[in-house]
Amino acid sequence: MAENEYKPQTNFIREIIKEDIKNSKYGGRVHTRFPPEPNGYLHIGHAKSICLNFGLASEFGGLCNLRFDDTNPTKEEVEYVESIKNDVRWLGFDWGDRLFYASDYFDQLYQYAVQLIKFGNAYVCDLSPQEIRDYRGTLTEPGKESPYRKRSVGENLDLFERMRAGEFEEGFRTLRAKIDMKAGNLNMRDPVIYRILKATHHRTGDKWCIYPMYDFAHCISDSIERITHSICTMEFEDHRPLYDWFLDQLGIYHPQQIEFARLNLSYTLLSKRKLIELVERGYVRGWDDPRMPTLSGLRRRGYTTESIRDFCERIGVAKRESLVDIALLEHCLREDLNKRSPRVMAVLRPLKVVIVNYPDDLLEEMEAINNPEDPGMGTRKVPFSRVIYIEKDDFREEPPKKFYRLAPGREIRLRYAYFIKCVDFIKDEKTGEVIELHCTYDAATKGGDAPDKRKVKATLHWISAAHALEAEIRLYEHLFTKENPGDLEEGQDFKVYINPNSLITLKSCYIEPTLRNTEPGDFYQFERLGYFCVDPDTINGKLVFNRTVTLKDTWAKIEKMQKGK
Ligand code: ATP
Ligand code: MG
Repeated sequence: MAENEYKPQTNFIREIIKEDIKNSKYGGRVHTRFPPEPNGYLHIGHAKSICLNFGLASEFGGLCNLRFDDTNPTKEEVEYVESIKNDVRWLGFDWGDRLFYASDYFDQLYQYAVQLIKFGNAYVCDLSPQEIRDYRGTLTEPGKESPYRKRSVGENLDLFERMRAGEFEEGFRTLRAKIDMKAGNLNMRDPVIYRILKATHHRTGDKWCIYPMYDFAHCISDSIERITHSICTMEFEDHRPLYDWFLDQLGIYHPQQIEFARLNLSYTLLSKRKLIELVERGYVRGWDDPRMPTLSGLRRRGYTTESIRDFCERIGVAKRESLVDIALLEHCLREDLNKRSPRVMAVLRPLKVVIVNYPDDLLEEMEAINNPEDPGMGTRKVPFSRVIYIEKDDFREEPPKKFYRLAPGREIRLRYAYFIKCVDFIKDEKTGEVIELHCTYDAATKGGDAPDKRKVKATLHWISAAHALEAEIRLYEHLFTKENPGDLEEGQDFKVYINPNSLITLKSCYIEPTLRNTEPGDFYQFERLGYFCVDPDTINGKLVFNRTVTLKDTWAKIEKMQKGK
């Protein structure tokens, strides 16, 4: 295991902040923010941004705000706001009394827009959305000026006021910044800063029928909150000149924007638009489906706060985009769960075993260790009796080479119990499937060791049939079959790469009875099978588990190879 091999790394943003503090820029203050749009659930990419913003603030004794960039009433919902707050808290961060909404600033933003008009820096434009696009030009061709660009300040003020009053229909008029239709940067070609939207906003209701564009609202919100380091992803690099322009024209407080590369993770997608599609079209059971890369999905799958924070620290922060191997995320999870999970036994695909020489009425309690990594977690008693279940996979009628588990005539160890030897088996007449084994046990091997020191090559987990709890167990694979499902050929639909085996439900599994009172959120290692957690569908006596992750750590292998060990 790579434990302790990893050393916290610094990153270029931390270095910028250190330098700024040294030079007393912003009076040595550090004030960041995490600014989600409430138009979907947060995913693991957002966790990177949350850990970065809240982490840097706390490291330098600063503050971090949570601000909802809620400028688009048609795509936003209160459900998303609540889920986002919940997820940030779950990651262990606290915004104190600094929960803000861009919509809190709508009056102020309107005033700033009026100011731009008065300075001759904004105009009301009557071009349709399609015409605005046509006039915009391309990367190689300059744009064309709108015929409405020369309107007088007075006329602009009047029209903008009437836009606000609801006199015009959606799409008929916009307010645009008057910058430069020939600018090389397309964002500077007279961008729209206000549009008419006759939509009810989740916080301001019907007070407004014009809404500021994200680019206008975002930089001014940062300014109003006196953010020092406005950290965002690379796609906003091209927007920085526009933000600078707005703040300079208005002559208001100016944060420093710093861009970093977004997280991409293999075998999944971190695009809200595509995740919404998966949810709305029913490809998954909801935002918190354990296959989803959302924080609510990861949580339901059994991911811990610690593992996600560890992952975000390890991936670091850079300017260049890359695809992070999902095996690293799983590795961080295993490291955490290995330390903390109680070990128990469960059988996923049961095969009945009758121990023919074991007394019919005997019940023994076998002492089992709860966590070999942590002796403090103690031991427990697991009942053993004449009929048990083992895993179907653990028996072969004709064992191939290197199969050391149970087979006719072969002896193995039952974990914490006895050596047993297979003496007979029964097949289903129709299917030919082995449905029952007959074994003998050696009473002298109680606890799992033979006094004559004879060896067996396998140790199997088991469940006493009379005491077993029945459970449904859900096994997961990656959501997509393609390593980078975001990288598509033209015209290809990402949904063709959805993994048809991403969810496998096993209805009749058996769990040891010590888990009788387990509750959603509890987690365990099922010996030899992986880490599992109790799903919230566990109600009315029905037990449902999710496999969080298997035991096989492919990342540890990759790391070893890289180090040439
Ligand atoms: P949209 O494409 O709908 O704007 P978004 O993923 O950018 O979605 P936001 O709610 O705007 O969603 O994101 C909030 C913050 O999280 C932003 O600062 C954004 O830069 C950051 N963020 C989003 N996705 C990632 C990612 N994959 N990696 C790192 N940071 C991200
Ligand atoms: Mg965004």
